[in-house]
Amino acid sequence: MKLDSIRAAEAKLLLNTYERSPLLFVRGEGVHLIDENGDRYLDLLSGIGVNALGYGHPAVVDTIAEQSKKLVHISNLFFHEGQAELALRLTEKSGMDRAFFCNSGTEAMEAALKLARAHAGKKRCEGKALGTKILALEHSFHGRTMGSVAATHKEKYREPFAPVMPGVEFVRFDDVTDLKAKFSNEVCAILLEAIQGEGGIRPVSQQFIQAARELTQSTGALLIVDEIQAGLARTGKWFAYQHYRIQPDVITIAKPLAGGLPLGAMLCREEAAQAIHPGMHGTTFGGGPLACAVAIAVIDAIEKEHLLDHINKVGSHFRQQLESLKQKHSAITAVRGLGLMLAIEIDSADLAKTALGEMTKRRILINRTSETVLRFLPPYVIQKQHVDEAIAALDETFTEHSPAYAGEHAHTQGGTKIG
Ligand SMILES: *Cc1c(COP(=O)(O)O)cnc(C)c1O
Repeated sequence: MKLDSIRAAEAKLLLNTYERSPLLFVRGEGVHLIDENGDRYLDLLSGIGVNALGYGHPAVVDTIAEQSKKLVHISNLFFHEGQAELALRLTEKSGMDRAFFCNSGTEAMEAALKLARAHAGKKRCEGKALGTKILALEHSFHGRTMGSVAATHKEKYREPFAPVMPGVEFVRFDDVTDLKAKFSNEVCAILLEAIQGEGGIRPVSQQFIQAARELTQSTGALLIVDEIQAGLARTGKWFAYQHYRIQPDVITIAKPLAGGLPLGAMLCREEAAQAIHPGMHGTTFGGGPLACAVAIAVIDAIEKEHLLDHINKVGSHFRQQLESLKQKHSAITAVRGLGLMLAIEIDSADLAKTALGEMTKRRILINRTSETVLRFLPPYVIQKQHVDEAIAALDETFTEHSPAYAGEHAHTQGGTKIG
Protein backbone atom coordinates (compact mmCIF):
# COMPACT_ATOMS: atom_id res chain seq x y z
CA MET A 1 0.00 0.00 0.00
CA LYS A 2 1.18 3.45 -0.93
CA LEU A 3 -0.22 4.81 2.35
CA ASP A 4 2.35 2.93 4.42
CA SER A 5 5.33 4.28 2.54
CA ILE A 6 3.98 7.83 2.56
CA ARG A 7 3.30 7.54 6.25
CA ALA A 8 6.85 6.38 6.95
CA ALA A 9 8.32 9.14 4.79
CA GLU A 10 6.20 11.84 6.44
CA ALA A 11 7.17 10.62 9.89
CA LYS A 12 10.76 11.30 8.95
CA LEU A 13 10.44 14.38 6.78
CA LEU A 14 7.57 16.55 8.03
CA LEU A 15 7.29 18.73 11.08
CA ASN A 16 5.30 16.67 13.52
CA THR A 17 2.15 18.81 13.59
CA TYR A 18 -0.72 16.48 12.63
CA GLU A 19 -2.23 13.21 13.74
CA ARG A 20 -3.64 12.14 10.40
CA SER A 21 -6.24 9.43 9.85
CA PRO A 22 -4.64 6.47 8.07
CA LEU A 23 -6.37 7.09 4.75
CA LEU A 24 -4.92 8.09 1.39
CA PHE A 25 -7.42 9.87 -0.81
CA VAL A 26 -6.58 10.24 -4.45
CA ARG A 27 -9.66 11.94 -5.87
CA GLY A 28 -13.14 13.18 -5.18
CA GLU A 29 -16.51 13.14 -6.93
CA GLY A 30 -19.43 15.22 -5.68
CA VAL A 31 -19.77 14.46 -1.97
CA HIS A 32 -17.51 11.41 -2.09
CA LEU A 33 -13.79 10.88 -1.65
CA ILE A 34 -12.08 7.88 -3.20
CA ASP A 35 -9.02 6.28 -1.61
CA GLU A 36 -6.07 4.49 -3.16
CA ASN A 37 -7.99 1.19 -3.19
CA GLY A 38 -10.95 2.70 -4.99
CA ASP A 39 -13.13 2.69 -1.84
CA ARG A 40 -15.68 5.52 -1.69
CA TYR A 41 -16.23 7.60 1.43
CA LEU A 42 -19.16 9.92 2.10
CA ASP A 43 -17.54 13.20 3.12
CA LEU A 44 -19.41 15.05 5.87
CA LEU A 45 -16.42 17.22 6.71
CA SER A 46 -15.50 18.80 3.33
CA GLY A 47 -11.88 19.51 4.24
CA ILE A 48 -13.02 21.29 7.45
CA GLY A 49 -15.71 23.32 5.76
CA VAL A 50 -13.62 24.27 2.74
CA ASN A 51 -14.92 22.14 -0.15
CA ALA A 52 -18.33 23.76 -0.11
CA LEU A 53 -19.27 22.66 -3.63
CA GLY A 54 -17.92 19.17 -3.10
CA TYR A 55 -15.42 17.66 -5.53
CA GLY A 56 -15.12 18.26 -9.24
CA HIS A 57 -17.79 20.98 -9.38
CA PRO A 58 -17.57 22.71 -12.79
CA ALA A 59 -17.59 26.18 -11.19
CA VAL A 60 -14.29 25.30 -9.51
CA VAL A 61 -12.72 23.01 -12.11
CA ASP A 62 -13.54 25.03 -15.22
CA THR A 63 -12.68 28.37 -13.63
CA ILE A 64 -9.29 27.05 -12.51
CA ALA A 65 -8.61 25.74 -16.02
CA GLU A 66 -9.65 28.95 -17.78
CA GLN A 67 -8.16 31.48 -15.38
CA SER A 68 -4.87 29.59 -15.02
CA LYS A 69 -4.32 29.93 -18.76
CA LYS A 70 -4.73 33.70 -18.44
CA LEU A 71 -3.12 34.79 -15.16
CA VAL A 72 -2.39 32.99 -11.89
CA HIS A 73 -0.43 35.62 -9.94
CA ILE A 74 0.33 39.28 -10.51
CA SER A 75 1.08 40.70 -6.99
CA ASN A 76 -0.70 43.60 -5.38
CA LEU A 77 1.50 46.09 -7.25
CA PHE A 78 -0.95 45.93 -10.17
CA PHE A 79 -4.67 45.85 -10.81
CA HIS A 80 -6.41 42.69 -11.95
CA GLU A 81 -10.00 41.96 -12.85
CA GLY A 82 -10.98 39.90 -9.81
CA GLN A 83 -10.60 41.78 -6.51
CA ALA A 84 -13.13 44.58 -6.96
CA GLU A 85 -15.65 42.21 -8.53
CA LEU A 86 -15.34 39.78 -5.62
CA ALA A 87 -15.37 42.63 -3.08
CA LEU A 88 -18.60 43.91 -4.62
CA ARG A 89 -20.32 40.54 -4.17
CA LEU A 90 -19.06 40.15 -0.59
CA THR A 91 -19.89 43.69 0.52
CA GLU A 92 -23.37 43.51 -1.00
CA LYS A 93 -24.11 40.29 0.87
CA SER A 94 -22.67 41.45 4.19
CA GLY A 95 -23.58 45.14 4.29
CA MET A 96 -19.87 45.94 4.71
CA ASP A 97 -18.05 48.60 2.70
CA ARG A 98 -14.52 47.39 1.98
CA ALA A 99 -12.52 44.17 1.64
CA PHE A 100 -8.92 43.16 2.23
CA PHE A 101 -7.87 39.85 0.65
CA CYS A 102 -5.34 37.41 2.06
CA ASN A 103 -4.68 33.66 1.94
CA SER A 104 -6.14 32.05 5.04
CA GLY A 105 -8.34 32.42 8.06
CA THR A 106 -5.60 33.35 10.44
CA GLU A 107 -4.37 36.07 8.08
CA ALA A 108 -7.88 37.51 7.88
CA MET A 109 -7.86 37.61 11.69
CA GLU A 110 -4.47 39.33 11.74
CA ALA A 111 -5.87 41.98 9.41
CA ALA A 112 -8.87 42.44 11.71
CA LEU A 113 -6.69 42.70 14.84
CA LYS A 114 -4.35 45.19 13.18
CA LEU A 115 -7.34 47.19 11.99
CA ALA A 116 -8.74 47.27 15.54
CA ARG A 117 -5.43 48.58 16.92
CA ALA A 118 -4.99 51.12 14.09
CA HIS A 119 -8.59 52.29 14.44
CA ALA A 120 -8.18 52.83 18.17
CA GLY A 121 -4.92 54.70 17.50
CA LYS A 122 -6.70 56.99 15.09
CA LYS A 123 -9.45 57.63 17.64
CA ARG A 124 -6.84 58.50 20.27
CA CYS A 125 -5.32 61.04 17.85
CA GLU A 126 -8.79 62.55 17.54
CA GLY A 127 -8.90 62.90 21.33
CA LYS A 128 -10.97 59.85 22.23
CA ALA A 129 -9.97 57.58 25.10
CA LEU A 130 -9.71 54.12 23.56
CA GLY A 131 -7.19 51.49 24.65
CA THR A 132 -5.54 48.51 22.97
CA LYS A 133 -7.18 45.60 24.81
CA ILE A 134 -9.07 42.89 22.95
CA LEU A 135 -11.85 40.80 24.45
CA ALA A 136 -12.30 37.28 23.08
CA LEU A 137 -14.45 34.39 24.28
CA GLU A 138 -13.65 31.23 26.15
CA HIS A 139 -13.56 28.18 23.80
CA SER A 140 -12.85 30.48 20.84
CA PHE A 141 -10.66 29.48 17.90
CA HIS A 142 -9.27 32.21 15.65
CA GLY A 143 -6.10 30.72 14.15
CA ARG A 144 -2.47 29.90 14.76
CA THR A 145 -0.37 33.00 14.06
CA MET A 146 0.90 35.09 16.97
CA GLY A 147 -2.03 37.52 16.93
CA SER A 148 -4.95 35.21 16.28
CA VAL A 149 -3.56 32.47 18.53
CA ALA A 150 -3.42 35.06 21.33
CA ALA A 151 -7.20 35.36 20.93
CA THR A 152 -7.64 31.57 20.80
CA HIS A 153 -8.74 30.25 24.16
CA LYS A 154 -7.09 26.82 24.36
CA GLU A 155 -3.97 27.27 26.43
CA LYS A 156 -2.03 24.45 24.76
CA TYR A 157 -2.13 26.43 21.49
CA ARG A 158 -0.66 29.58 23.10
CA GLU A 159 1.48 28.60 26.06
CA PRO A 160 4.44 26.93 24.24
CA PHE A 161 4.92 30.08 22.14
CA ALA A 162 4.68 32.71 24.85
CA PRO A 163 4.74 35.63 24.72
CA VAL A 164 2.03 35.77 22.06
CA MET A 165 0.37 39.13 21.27
CA PRO A 166 -0.36 40.79 24.62
CA GLY A 167 -3.59 42.51 25.55
CA VAL A 168 -6.22 39.79 25.09
CA GLU A 169 -8.67 38.96 27.86
CA PHE A 170 -11.15 36.06 27.71
CA VAL A 171 -14.81 36.44 28.58
CA ARG A 172 -16.89 33.47 29.76
CA PHE A 173 -18.87 32.08 26.84
CA ASP A 174 -22.21 33.80 26.42
CA ASP A 175 -21.97 35.45 29.83
CA VAL A 176 -23.28 39.02 29.51
CA THR A 177 -22.36 39.89 33.11
CA ASP A 178 -18.74 38.84 32.59
CA LEU A 179 -18.62 40.73 29.28
CA LYS A 180 -19.89 43.92 30.92
CA ALA A 181 -17.47 43.52 33.83
CA LYS A 182 -14.47 43.15 31.51
CA PHE A 183 -15.46 45.87 29.05
CA SER A 184 -14.15 49.42 29.39
CA ASN A 185 -12.69 52.11 27.13
CA GLU A 186 -9.41 50.18 27.43
CA VAL A 187 -10.95 47.74 24.94
CA CYS A 188 -10.44 48.39 21.20
CA ALA A 189 -12.40 45.35 19.98
CA ILE A 190 -14.65 42.49 20.98
CA LEU A 191 -13.96 39.41 18.93
CA LEU A 192 -16.36 36.48 18.64
CA GLU A 193 -17.64 33.63 16.47
CA ALA A 194 -21.45 33.87 16.17
CA ILE A 195 -21.36 30.07 16.22
CA GLN A 196 -18.18 28.70 17.71
CA GLY A 197 -16.73 26.05 15.41
CA GLU A 198 -13.71 24.33 16.97
CA GLY A 199 -15.23 25.12 20.37
CA GLY A 200 -18.01 22.61 19.67
CA ILE A 201 -20.65 24.23 17.38
CA ARG A 202 -22.00 26.61 20.00
CA PRO A 203 -24.14 29.57 18.94
CA VAL A 204 -23.97 32.67 21.14
CA SER A 205 -27.29 34.13 22.27
CA GLN A 206 -28.99 37.20 20.78
CA GLN A 207 -28.65 38.80 24.19
CA PHE A 208 -24.87 38.31 24.27
CA ILE A 209 -24.12 39.46 20.74
CA GLN A 210 -26.40 42.46 21.26
CA ALA A 211 -24.60 43.38 24.48
CA ALA A 212 -21.28 43.15 22.59
CA ARG A 213 -22.74 45.41 19.89
CA GLU A 214 -24.06 47.99 22.34
CA LEU A 215 -20.88 48.06 24.46
CA THR A 216 -18.60 48.58 21.46
CA GLN A 217 -20.91 51.24 20.05
CA SER A 218 -20.83 53.11 23.34
CA THR A 219 -17.05 53.64 23.17
CA GLY A 220 -16.22 53.41 19.45
CA ALA A 221 -14.50 50.01 19.81
CA LEU A 222 -15.00 47.49 16.98
CA LEU A 223 -17.18 44.40 16.99
CA ILE A 224 -15.34 41.74 14.99
CA VAL A 225 -17.22 38.58 14.01
CA ASP A 226 -15.12 35.62 12.88
CA GLU A 227 -17.12 33.99 10.06
CA ILE A 228 -14.25 31.83 8.83
CA GLN A 229 -16.10 28.57 9.49
CA ALA A 230 -19.75 29.64 9.76
CA GLY A 231 -19.80 32.24 7.00
CA LEU A 232 -20.58 32.09 3.27
CA ALA A 233 -23.89 30.20 3.33
CA ARG A 234 -22.92 27.31 5.63
CA THR A 235 -25.59 28.12 8.23
CA GLY A 236 -28.33 28.84 5.69
CA LYS A 237 -27.68 32.58 5.53
CA TRP A 238 -24.75 34.26 3.83
CA PHE A 239 -23.24 35.03 7.23
CA ALA A 240 -23.96 33.52 10.63
CA TYR A 241 -24.34 36.94 12.31
CA GLN A 242 -27.34 37.51 10.00
CA HIS A 243 -29.30 35.10 12.20
CA TYR A 244 -29.03 37.84 14.84
CA ARG A 245 -30.31 41.40 14.75
CA ILE A 246 -26.91 43.09 14.69
CA GLN A 247 -24.41 44.42 12.17
CA PRO A 248 -20.71 44.02 13.06
CA ASP A 249 -17.96 46.48 12.11
CA VAL A 250 -15.62 43.80 10.82
CA ILE A 251 -16.00 40.22 9.65
CA THR A 252 -13.41 37.65 8.62
CA ILE A 253 -14.03 34.88 6.09
CA ALA A 254 -11.92 32.16 4.51
CA LYS A 255 -12.61 28.43 4.55
CA PRO A 256 -15.17 27.92 1.72
CA LEU A 257 -14.47 31.21 -0.05
CA ALA A 258 -12.57 29.90 -3.06
CA GLY A 259 -13.91 26.35 -3.24
CA GLY A 260 -10.68 24.75 -2.01
CA LEU A 261 -8.06 27.28 -3.09
CA PRO A 262 -6.50 29.30 -0.27
CA LEU A 263 -8.23 32.67 0.05
CA GLY A 264 -9.30 34.74 3.02
CA ALA A 265 -10.79 38.18 3.46
CA MET A 266 -11.49 40.79 6.05
CA LEU A 267 -14.56 42.91 5.36
CA CYS A 268 -15.19 46.12 7.26
CA ARG A 269 -17.27 49.25 7.43
CA GLU A 270 -16.05 52.55 6.02
CA GLU A 271 -15.48 54.20 9.39
CA ALA A 272 -13.07 51.47 10.49
CA ALA A 273 -11.45 51.27 7.06
CA GLN A 274 -10.40 54.93 7.34
CA ALA A 275 -7.67 53.86 9.77
CA ILE A 276 -5.66 52.11 7.03
CA HIS A 277 -3.42 53.86 4.50
CA PRO A 278 -1.11 52.54 1.74
CA GLY A 279 1.88 50.69 3.13
CA MET A 280 0.36 49.88 6.53
CA HIS A 281 -0.70 46.34 5.64
CA GLY A 282 -0.39 43.99 2.68
CA THR A 283 0.42 40.57 1.26
CA THR A 284 2.26 39.14 -1.73
CA PHE A 285 -0.11 36.31 -2.65
CA GLY A 286 -3.40 37.49 -1.15
CA GLY A 287 -6.32 38.01 -3.51
CA GLY A 288 -4.57 36.73 -6.61
CA PRO A 289 -6.39 36.46 -9.95
CA LEU A 290 -6.87 32.68 -9.78
CA ALA A 291 -8.27 32.55 -6.23
CA CYS A 292 -10.54 35.56 -6.87
CA ALA A 293 -11.91 34.14 -10.12
CA VAL A 294 -12.76 30.86 -8.40
CA ALA A 295 -14.36 32.65 -5.43
CA ILE A 296 -16.59 34.65 -7.80
CA ALA A 297 -17.58 31.38 -9.52
CA VAL A 298 -18.32 29.73 -6.15
CA ILE A 299 -20.58 32.61 -5.06
CA ASP A 300 -22.35 32.59 -8.42
CA ALA A 301 -22.89 28.82 -8.17
CA ILE A 302 -24.36 29.18 -4.67
CA GLU A 303 -26.86 31.65 -6.14
CA LYS A 304 -27.60 29.89 -9.44
CA GLU A 305 -28.12 26.55 -7.75
CA HIS A 306 -30.21 28.10 -4.94
CA LEU A 307 -27.92 26.52 -2.40
CA LEU A 308 -29.05 28.73 0.50
CA ASP A 309 -32.53 27.20 0.18
CA HIS A 310 -31.03 23.79 -0.26
CA ILE A 311 -28.82 24.18 2.85
CA ASN A 312 -31.85 25.22 4.88
CA LYS A 313 -33.90 22.23 3.69
CA VAL A 314 -31.22 19.54 3.93
CA GLY A 315 -29.86 21.11 7.11
CA SER A 316 -33.20 21.05 8.90
CA HIS A 317 -33.78 17.45 7.78
CA PHE A 318 -30.31 16.57 9.11
CA ARG A 319 -31.04 18.32 12.39
CA GLN A 320 -34.42 16.61 12.81
CA GLN A 321 -32.82 13.24 12.19
CA LEU A 322 -30.13 14.00 14.76
CA GLU A 323 -32.84 15.02 17.24
CA SER A 324 -34.58 11.65 16.69
CA LEU A 325 -31.29 9.86 17.28
CA LYS A 326 -30.93 11.80 20.50
CA GLN A 327 -34.39 10.60 21.60
CA LYS A 328 -33.32 7.04 20.91
CA HIS A 329 -29.77 7.06 22.30
CA SER A 330 -29.15 8.54 25.73
CA ALA A 331 -25.43 8.81 24.95
CA ILE A 332 -26.31 11.77 22.71
CA THR A 333 -26.91 14.63 25.11
CA ALA A 334 -27.38 17.57 22.74
CA VAL A 335 -27.84 18.53 19.10
CA ARG A 336 -26.49 21.94 18.08
CA GLY A 337 -25.97 24.10 15.04
CA LEU A 338 -27.66 25.68 12.05
CA GLY A 339 -27.91 24.80 8.37
CA LEU A 340 -25.06 22.46 7.49
CA MET A 341 -22.96 23.35 10.53
CA LEU A 342 -24.17 20.71 12.99
CA ALA A 343 -22.95 18.67 15.91
CA ILE A 344 -23.98 16.16 18.53
CA GLU A 345 -22.63 16.16 22.05
CA ILE A 346 -21.72 12.71 23.37
CA ASP A 347 -21.73 11.92 27.09
CA SER A 348 -18.20 10.51 27.04
CA ALA A 349 -15.02 11.33 25.14
CA ASP A 350 -14.26 7.60 24.78
CA LEU A 351 -17.59 6.93 23.13
CA ALA A 352 -17.18 9.95 20.84
CA LYS A 353 -13.82 8.57 19.76
CA THR A 354 -15.23 5.07 19.26
CA ALA A 355 -18.13 6.47 17.23
CA LEU A 356 -15.74 8.37 15.01
CA GLY A 357 -13.81 5.17 14.31
CA GLU A 358 -17.03 3.25 13.64
CA MET A 359 -18.18 5.89 11.15
CA THR A 360 -14.85 5.73 9.34
CA LYS A 361 -15.20 1.93 9.16
CA ARG A 362 -18.59 2.53 7.55
CA ARG A 363 -16.83 4.89 5.12
CA ILE A 364 -18.39 8.09 6.39
CA LEU A 365 -16.09 10.96 7.30
CA ILE A 366 -16.89 13.20 10.25
CA ASN A 367 -14.68 14.62 12.98
CA ARG A 368 -14.51 15.37 16.65
CA THR A 369 -13.97 18.77 18.24
CA SER A 370 -13.47 19.52 21.91
CA GLU A 371 -13.32 15.80 22.83
CA THR A 372 -17.04 15.03 23.16
CA VAL A 373 -18.50 16.71 20.08
CA LEU A 374 -19.06 14.99 16.73
CA ARG A 375 -19.15 17.62 14.02
CA PHE A 376 -20.81 17.64 10.61
CA LEU A 377 -19.67 20.17 7.99
CA PRO A 378 -20.76 18.51 4.73
CA PRO A 379 -20.46 20.07 1.28
CA TYR A 380 -23.43 22.33 0.46
CA VAL A 381 -24.40 19.99 -2.39
CA ILE A 382 -25.15 17.07 -0.05
CA GLN A 383 -28.56 15.41 -0.69
CA LYS A 384 -31.17 14.03 1.69
CA GLN A 385 -30.20 10.43 0.86
CA HIS A 386 -26.63 11.08 2.02
CA VAL A 387 -27.94 12.47 5.31
CA ASP A 388 -30.10 9.37 5.76
CA GLU A 389 -27.12 7.14 5.05
CA ALA A 390 -25.11 8.94 7.74
CA ILE A 391 -27.99 8.80 10.22
CA ALA A 392 -28.39 5.04 9.69
CA ALA A 393 -24.66 4.56 10.32
CA LEU A 394 -24.80 6.68 13.49
CA ASP A 395 -27.87 4.76 14.67
CA GLU A 396 -26.04 1.45 14.17
CA THR A 397 -22.95 2.79 15.92
CA PHE A 398 -24.82 4.04 18.98
CA THR A 399 -26.95 0.90 19.14
CA GLU A 400 -23.83 -1.27 19.22
CA HIS A 401 -21.97 0.97 21.64
CA SER A 402 -24.65 2.46 23.86
CA PRO A 403 -24.42 1.81 27.62
CA ALA A 404 -27.76 -0.09 27.76
CA TYR A 405 -26.76 -2.34 24.94
CA ALA A 406 -23.32 -2.91 26.43
CA GLY A 407 -24.98 -4.75 29.32
CA GLU A 408 -26.46 -7.37 27.01
CA HIS A 409 -23.40 -7.57 24.82
CA ALA A 410 -20.64 -7.06 27.33
CA HIS A 411 -18.39 -9.29 25.24
CA THR A 412 -18.44 -6.95 22.24
CA GLN A 413 -15.42 -4.78 21.93
CA GLY A 414 -16.00 -1.14 22.78
CA GLY A 415 -19.35 -1.86 24.40
CA THR A 416 -17.79 -2.66 27.73
CA LYS A 417 -15.76 0.45 28.25
CA ILE A 418 -18.73 2.78 28.03
CA GLY A 419 -20.86 3.62 30.96
C1 LIG B 1 -10.31 27.55 10.70
C2 LIG B 1 -10.63 28.76 11.49
C3 LIG B 1 -9.70 29.80 11.62
C4 LIG B 1 -8.29 29.72 11.07
O1 LIG B 1 -8.26 29.56 9.69
P1 LIG B 1 -6.89 29.05 8.98
O2 LIG B 1 -7.21 29.16 7.52
O3 LIG B 1 -6.68 27.65 9.45
O4 LIG B 1 -5.82 29.96 9.40
C5 LIG B 1 -10.08 30.92 12.32
N1 LIG B 1 -11.31 31.03 12.86
C6 LIG B 1 -12.24 30.06 12.74
C7 LIG B 1 -13.59 30.24 13.34
C8 LIG B 1 -11.92 28.88 12.06
O5 LIG B 1 -12.82 27.89 11.99
